[in-house]
Amino acid sequence: MRKMKWVICGHCNGNEKVENPAFSNGFTSSEWADMDQDGRDAYMRGDYDVRCEPCKGSGKVQVPDVSQMNFGEKREYVLELRERAAEARDLREMRREMEAERRMGC
Ligand SMILES: [Zn+2]
Repeated sequence: MRKMKWVICGHCNGNEKVENPAFSNGFTSSEWADMDQDGRDAYMRGDYDVRCEPCKGSGKVQVPDVSQMNFGEKREYVLELRERAAEARDLREMRREMEAERRMGC
């Protein structure tokens, strides 16, 4: 069993929820003016906030505790990270190729 530790979620800073992505660009002043008072109050209260997905609304995430790993475990973990990075690279590559093919009309 891998040694894990809990850390505060960096996405919501432990707040368990984040501002609704629909509002991530904020409001223009005319949009704000168009809202009724209830809507503004609700927004200021955070009623429109949505659950933070990376931590599933718990405010914390579990990560491998590297400081508690022995040499073998660390090596295994690094290999796993490398593999994951390679996979991500492959995906990007694949998508690029598909893009290129589409542009050529395939
Ligand atoms: Zn979170």
